[in-house]
Amino acid sequence: MLAEPDRTPYDVNFWLLGFRVRIHPLFWLGTVLLGASTLDLGLLYLVIWVGVVLVSITVHELGHAVAFRRFGSDSHIVLWMFGGLAVPSSGISGRGRRILVSLAGPLAGFILCGVVYASHLATDWGSPRNGLPTAYLYLWLVFVNLYWGIFNLLPVYPLDGGQVSRELCEGKWRGRGVVTSLKISIGTAATVAIYSLACEMERRSRNNIFEFLPDWFPRGSLYTALLFGLLAYQSYQLLQFHSRGYYYEAPDDRVPWEK
Ligand SMILES: [Zn+2]
Repeated sequence: MLAEPDRTPYDVNFWLLGFRVRIHPLFWLGTVLLGASTLDLGLLYLVIWVGVVLVSITVHELGHAVAFRRFGSDSHIVLWMFGGLAVPSSGISGRGRRILVSLAGPLAGFILCGVVYASHLATDWGSPRNGLPTAYLYLWLVFVNLYWGIFNLLPVYPLDGGQVSRELCEGKWRGRGVVTSLKISIGTAATVAIYSLACEMERRSRNNIFEFLPDWFPRGSLYTALLFGLLAYQSYQLLQFHSRGYYYEAPDDRVPWEK
């Protein structure tokens, strides 16, 4: 499901902290489409948006890559249409280690968010007084790293939280664990999709359905409704596959005192 996209002549390749990074051309398309509404403010804002997404996703993937390296596996980073991938050259043994690798991506984003926020508190650099472009740069850096990190931790395949959920379920129920984690994935993704749809309807009808929610609570949009609807369907297909008896036999990698 998380297969790496093929190489193209339009890839941008570079090295970062000893990791090979490849930017697939669809990364630019996906990011521009996602931030198309920033064009209302001007072309400069679209450029800032693309820069924020580029830095944020690279930092997230670097979190995974550093964790892979810590556990003895080399990896390379690919950015494409639907975010990024850190592709390891070898598997990681040990459930706890694999969970840490999954958590390392969102954690790196939260750290970047914290650094941006702390530097703003110290110097007030993100204030609109320093110009609207700077203010948006600050807001988007905080928004993307905080909220995308939180969304990524939802127990939905193939997000990082979905990987953690699968590891935890397999640790508890062995081979059947994957089916349980897929059911959790379908339930969560469907709930987010329905909530997002309701948020979109609220916005269009100007009824305050979610008035009771605090302002900081993330609101959904048509985009998140489609995204999570698709993820729910993908998990459903995987569940059909696994329920037909093609069980994934989890390797017995429990630590000695668990056996
Ligand atoms: Zn990740």
